[in-house]
Amino acid sequence: MTSEATANIGVVGLAVMGSNLARNLASREGNTVAVYNRSPERTRLLLEEHPEAGFVASETIEDFVASLSKPRTAIIMVQAGKGTDAVISQLTELFEPGDIIVDGGNADFHDTIRREKAVSETGINFVGAGISGGEEGALKGPSIMPGGSVEAYKTLGPILESIAAVVDGVPCVTHVGTDGAGHFVKMIHNGIEYADMQLIAEGYDLLRYVGGHSPAEIADIFVKWNEGDLESYLIEITAEVLRQVDAKTGKPFVDIVLDEAGSKGTGVWTVQNALDLGVPVGGIAEAVFARAVSSHPEQREAVQESVTERPEPVDVGEGFQDDVRKALYASKVVAYAQGFDAIIAGAKKYGWDIDKGAIATIWRGGCIIRAQFLNRIVEAYENDPSIPTLLVDPYFAKAVADGEAAWRRIVSTAALSGIPAPGFSAALSYYDSLAAKRLPAALVQGQRDFFGAHTYKRVDMPGVFHTLWSGDRTEVETEGSSH
Ligand code: NAP
Repeated sequence: MTSEATANIGVVGLAVMGSNLARNLASREGNTVAVYNRSPERTRLLLEEHPEAGFVASETIEDFVASLSKPRTAIIMVQAGKGTDAVISQLTELFEPGDIIVDGGNADFHDTIRREKAVSETGINFVGAGISGGEEGALKGPSIMPGGSVEAYKTLGPILESIAAVVDGVPCVTHVGTDGAGHFVKMIHNGIEYADMQLIAEGYDLLRYVGGHSPAEIADIFVKWNEGDLESYLIEITAEVLRQVDAKTGKPFVDIVLDEAGSKGTGVWTVQNALDLGVPVGGIAEAVFARAVSSHPEQREAVQESVTERPEPVDVGEGFQDDVRKALYASKVVAYAQGFDAIIAGAKKYGWDIDKGAIATIWRGGCIIRAQFLNRIVEAYENDPSIPTLLVDPYFAKAVADGEAAWRRIVSTAALSGIPAPGFSAALSYYDSLAAKRLPAALVQGQRDFFGAHTYKRVDMPGVFHTLWSGDRTEVETEGSSH
């Protein structure tokens, strides 16, 4: 144990994420890494197992702080919530103005905004950094989404760049924006991840129960798809999961797993925040709800008992596989377009200057949604940074138009066959809503004016109006704006 200030970076919290991140940091040239964990056993174990890392270890937070050179920089990797608050308060006591506290956990971005405000009042920098890629990413190179001040990023940036995943020579890290911007973008990343996974799962379901393919055959189909537009980590691991055979029963692994999907919160946060921001993220919401539906076995059993007849799968021909691929791709484009809409709306509300192309760039490696596809998003924002939706970018518009007929066939085939496809259907409905010349929202405005005098605007003249529904039904012009 030492208290000489020899480490340029420290990690607090040495469970799976913290210890892997500390090892990653130690493996990069120029870094000397200080480590500390509340329970010293974890620290001792890490030192024993990884002497090669040359960690500077401390058993008290005071020694840990003393082992850091200035500006002191510490990354907190502890349980999100109270654990994070406890460590921040300890470090704030001991750090000095100009030092940097980084929360690398999965914080709610509202907490990050609150913490940044409180910590920065002391002159200490606070950075909320979203870190994606799970334990393997933490060890080998994650995608990192840091928020916080520009000043803090000057010190922190090179350190984070040294440990991030690298794609085409570019490290998967960028200064996202001030205070909670990094954790906000990490939240949206996870929301998109939910949508992507659900869409792939729906594709599998259709190939299996309408197409009649076995899990191993679908694994082959996904391997083939992974060579085209759909190339992604998620498609790649899906093929591996589908190919897996259960050693105990000899059955496909996917058939012995209970079909109730869990979630850890960030997908739910994305939808809650999108609702607050008024951004339609149906693709993400349906993915969250699909997990929720799966996790209500009592309702599922009751309905299965009460429904005696289920539709037979529709007969499909040769082109079915390709139709599913196209529907999956079009739905995926919608889900990502919606995710980026949420980033734009969040940036506007919270005053962040977020470079959307830079976000797509740092998601190309290290994180769960990594894919070549993100290059297309980078290009779209390069062509037009203020594009109203990614769906009108020439590349995506063509991709969706090329797949549109297949997409419609798949959604109708799913409905006729009784196969749930909430992600595919919601994405198509969203696309149709944007493309429709008239929406029934006009009727909804009429209903709202009828029962609540919520007023409406007319298509043919300016102003805000109300019809005297319970009177003589004449129209009056009102003050204020229709909402
Ligand atoms: P974790 O299980 O979330 O948390 C355990 C760590 O938190 C231990 O080091 C524990 O110390 C420490 N801790 C808890 N309460 C504390 C307190 N009041 N004061 C000080 N330390 C406290 O660990 P993890 O799975 O490695 O995750 C770390 C962070 O990364 C979390 O925010 C998590 O959400 C985020 N994250 C995780 C993943 C993942 O794949 N696991 C991916 C991305 C982000 P003791 O050893 O003393 O109990």
